[in-house]
Amino acid sequence: TWSAVPAGPPDPILGVTEAFKADKDPRKINLGVGAYRDENGKPYVLGSVKKAEEILTASKPDKEYLPITGLPEFTKKAALLAYGAESAPLNSGSIAVTQSISGTGALRIGGAFLARHYPHSKVVYLPVPSWGNHTPIFRDSGLEVRGYRYFDKGTVGLDFVGLKADLQAAPEHSIVLLHACAHNPTGVDPTQEQWAQISDIVKEKKLMPFFDMAYQGFASGSTDRDAFAVRHFVSQGHQIALAQSFAKNMGLYGERVGAFSLITSDAAEKARVDSQLKIVIRPMYSNPPLHGAQIANTILGDKLLYSQWEGEVKGMADRIISMREKLYGTLTHDLKTPGEWGHIKSQIGMFSFTGLTSAQTKALAEKAHIYMTADGRISMAGLNTSNIEYFAQSVDAAVRG
Ligand code: PMP
Repeated sequence: TWSAVPAGPPDPILGVTEAFKADKDPRKINLGVGAYRDENGKPYVLGSVKKAEEILTASKPDKEYLPITGLPEFTKKAALLAYGAESAPLNSGSIAVTQSISGTGALRIGGAFLARHYPHSKVVYLPVPSWGNHTPIFRDSGLEVRGYRYFDKGTVGLDFVGLKADLQAAPEHSIVLLHACAHNPTGVDPTQEQWAQISDIVKEKKLMPFFDMAYQGFASGSTDRDAFAVRHFVSQGHQIALAQSFAKNMGLYGERVGAFSLITSDAAEKARVDSQLKIVIRPMYSNPPLHGAQIANTILGDKLLYSQWEGEVKGMADRIISMREKLYGTLTHDLKTPGEWGHIKSQIGMFSFTGLTSAQTKALAEKAHIYMTADGRISMAGLNTSNIEYFAQSVDAAVRG
């Protein structure tokens, strides 16, 4: 029956982990997948998460189904975390929000909802490059995917001129996907001044802004600062769509905790949108998982746990920033590696777009047992004081050929 089914290519990001697992060399390093690792290279369960689980266990919760749009206490707190206590649409009750299967599920719900109900366009513009899963998520949602310029290989920074030109040239009312902070894979974010200009273009061209916020708190260490772009757009009257993930900032990767929200014009419109979100979600997976949402809800709802969590998010962000400084220093000062490495320090969030070529990344895997995606993206979280010297020396060797 299935003899005509062709073999598909391995996932470009998860495939890196498979190659890493197969390598038996003790020096091996996995810089492929974007999951935080502690100072010893181990997965990190946050103390606030462990405490929340203890509180939950003690309360002997049942395992009943959640409603289609998830745990209402959780989605309320998730929206507050993203939009902030001052948010006008939040306070007027005009934000429709649903729990989702982490950030991916939020993007997919949003894509499917827009494909079905957004009356003006079926076209979504993604930054080039973007997270590899964005294209299939939106394409499989029924939207046409196009790109806008984002990254300038020459400066290893933002191509702001190209970005503005492409958004200005997009058909009116197109959907535009924006990474709220810690752009994946480049680590390059617009400045606050540039965000204000992007907001003006989006307004002028009546574009539909869809924010993907997978790293709130992870970029700067502050959940408020990282929400700047989202809150600025909302303050300018944009009715944004927003995908949130708690995978990175709470370390809840496998628990699949997220939220999708959409700003509407008033409470009556919100109620209609809510009813249609349910109709989108029900045939996809009926209702979302319970446990992770309860963990996040417990942390967000308890003053002490909340401040412990804020400290832990900052701790993760700070460790990554210190690895950036160490790597930059070792390459430029100690090894005098040919090339310009300032971007390692200036890039933001979990990833660095190193500028290494695909031939160099291949050589690093084969000769040094160091694994990253072929575009030269490294997950900074995979580096620590025990492996960073070896990594820098291996990069130096690869660059010198
Ligand atoms: N968006 C971006 C930009 C991401 O980097 C990721 C995770 N790699 C996600 C969304 C979704 O992740 P998850 O589904 O695990 O929340």
